[in-house]
Amino acid sequence: MLTLIRGGELFGPEPMGRRDILICGGKIAGIADRIDIPRQWDVEVVDAEDKAVTPGFIDLHVHIIGGGGEGGPGTRVPEIQLGSIVRAGVTTVVGVLGTDDVSRHPETLLAKAMGLEKEGITAYIMVGSYQMPPVTITGSVRKDVALIPHVLGVGEVALSDHRSSQPSFEEVAKLVAEARVGGMLGGKVGVVQFHMGTGAGGMEYLFRLARETEVPIGQFFPTHVTRSAELFEQAIRFAQMGGSVDITASGKMLSWRMKAADAIRELLSAKISMEQITISSDANGSMPIFDENGRLQKLAVGEIQNLQQEFHRLVTEEGLPASDILRCFTLNPARRIGIDGFKGVLKVGTDADLILFDSNWRLDQVFARGTRMVSGGSAVVKGTFE
Ligand SMILES: [Zn+2]
Repeated sequence: MLTLIRGGELFGPEPMGRRDILICGGKIAGIADRIDIPRQWDVEVVDAEDKAVTPGFIDLHVHIIGGGGEGGPGTRVPEIQLGSIVRAGVTTVVGVLGTDDVSRHPETLLAKAMGLEKEGITAYIMVGSYQMPPVTITGSVRKDVALIPHVLGVGEVALSDHRSSQPSFEEVAKLVAEARVGGMLGGKVGVVQFHMGTGAGGMEYLFRLARETEVPIGQFFPTHVTRSAELFEQAIRFAQMGGSVDITASGKMLSWRMKAADAIRELLSAKISMEQITISSDANGSMPIFDENGRLQKLAVGEIQNLQQEFHRLVTEEGLPASDILRCFTLNPARRIGIDGFKGVLKVGTDADLILFDSNWRLDQVFARGTRMVSGGSAVVKGTFE
């Protein structure tokens, strides 16, 4: 089955002008000013004359089997479903555990990722959780990353957070080294994603990893960096050292976070490249709010829709150029997890993961590996239990 996306304004993520895209076998088979298919061939033509066409979003931080549990078993967040993922324009997710590695397991995470792939999107996982030593599938981070195709690294490991294991620097350094070597052996990035809390230590361990070990700074990155002003100051410093930072998309209930637009502007004015910034949803994680004694007060849940709403807000309300900001949702996350050879870009030979936006940057259609998952903003392919 061939699909021809006719005449869209392409952002790959850089502006590519008005072009046609031919999809064949789940891949982008051709990009040209005009592609004509012999009439006897079976081809579906999608009129994209008034549309922007971009790579599908890559979300580096999704609690695909649910996170939470910090307020007891009744606060365990449910699994995410295919429909909500694709309605957010996300065609690739990276699944992570969170605080709970007692009733949640990396094996379950892996099975869910495999299930989501069966349903049509692309899914990877990180082994480990907030806690140290990391929970793994084979008993070794090195083996998991080297031998299990879906495992790209470790995360989210909590630092400077009252829910972390309060690991020593040496433990953290060993973990990052293990992930890197596993990555080398498996031909992957072997990256470690650090969940940052608001504790006094801040990113000190990350600065020390960069200063005191031989592990390249690209092997690890912090997320939730806009959680507090102090943390964000450190995120700027980390990025100035050459590191990458991940910003969590703002939801409705999270007014205590810095706005992503302000964070991006500050990073850019500190001479940080847009290439060092990614934005993720933290979907299906819980956002517990604790009082000064560490008692749970309120519980909110991260939504994957926050990701595309953040993109929409950055472009339409904050006036950031779509072609710049798109990188933070597509090519940059692809690079962070080492899949930029076939994801996160519009290029011949890459996976046909595409979003078609209307003229107001509202999501209209989504294709994952060449199959239309969303039409008119609604999911047209349902998950097994939707
Ligand atoms: Zn987190």
